[in-house]
Amino acid sequence: MTEVIPPEFEYHAPGSVDEAIGLLQNSGEAKVLAGGQSLLPLMKLRLAAPKTLVDITRIPKLSYVNETTDCLCLGATTKINDLNDSALIRNRYPLLADAAQHIADPLVRNMGTVGGNVCHGDPGNDLPACMLAYGASYVVRGPKGNRTIPAQGFYQDTFVTSLDPSEILVEVQVPKAQPGDGGAYLKMERKVSDFAIAAVAVQLRTDSRGTVNQAGIALTNVGPTVLLASQAAGQLTTKKPTNADILAAGKLAAEAAQPNSDLRGPAEFKRGVVQTLTQRAVKLALWRAGGMS
Ligand SMILES: Cc1cc2nc3c(=O)[nH]c(=O)nc-3n(C[C@H](O)[C@H](O)[C@H](O)COP(=O)(O)OP(=O)(O)OC[C@H]3O[C@@H](n4cnc5c(N)ncnc54)[C@H](O)[C@@H]3O)c2cc1C
Repeated sequence: MTEVIPPEFEYHAPGSVDEAIGLLQNSGEAKVLAGGQSLLPLMKLRLAAPKTLVDITRIPKLSYVNETTDCLCLGATTKINDLNDSALIRNRYPLLADAAQHIADPLVRNMGTVGGNVCHGDPGNDLPACMLAYGASYVVRGPKGNRTIPAQGFYQDTFVTSLDPSEILVEVQVPKAQPGDGGAYLKMERKVSDFAIAAVAVQLRTDSRGTVNQAGIALTNVGPTVLLASQAAGQLTTKKPTNADILAAGKLAAEAAQPNSDLRGPAEFKRGVVQTLTQRAVKLALWRAGGMS
């Protein structure tokens, strides 16, 4: 029979990040609890059994969406729905806006946090691909203080990240949007609110002539971790991409995918989905950047 009640655990709701770090350090087998939308289902299925949960959602000032002189800063406990509610995100960060509205359902988005989504290490989570495509960084705090980890180096294997057990992600930093930026996230799912069969994040920076100076392309749920499709991105840079370049980028992204055949479809089908979504997302991102009519 499937278990529905998690094993017993101690629950703490610290009032500061430093107190939370102390609890993680000094309690055996402790885990951070944010929205609980990924961790609690694993505990109910007995696939995870931490002895202590350190709930960070009551820590003040960890939930915010701010734009500074050089970045968009997202506090760790910002709810996914806060991204949907933010005019700043809708108007200036369309890649993030696309992804946030296709994560799960309103109930999950009201509980699930940005920090939990990027820290879980599930290749099916949608926000990590956006962060890779943007070239975002994660600010984490641990017993020795703060360090900043590029999203690109964060994902090591399925459910394995470069976070130490007593570290907490406090902020996600996305490079500040500039004129000529354009992004798009396209996701194919079996039904509304499902994890992706495959999804593609594209972020482009163009100049006034439509030349792409920077490109990031990342893939969701087609490998052991979220994947960066660097060769596909390289196909688009230092030029005004032609249709042939966009078709080639789609093929290169499909080659970068490492899908398995499973309930969401055969591997070759998923590669085809990546190819098509990449081509469409690049066109949409270029259009949003003002570089394609
Ligand atoms: C029915 C359903 C459908 C879903 N569909 C999707 C989907 O389509 N796309 C998608 O992206 N997600 C989906 N999710 C997952 C959802 O988005 C989760 O909310 C999210 O992945 C985790 O966020 P959370 O705040 O709930 O984290 P939690 O479940 O609380 O934590 C997840 C993991 O991250 C760690 N963690 C959390 N916050 C921090 C932090 N600040 N620092 C360090 N470690 C931290 C925890 O210790 C835990 O290991 C779905 C979930 C459900 C239940």
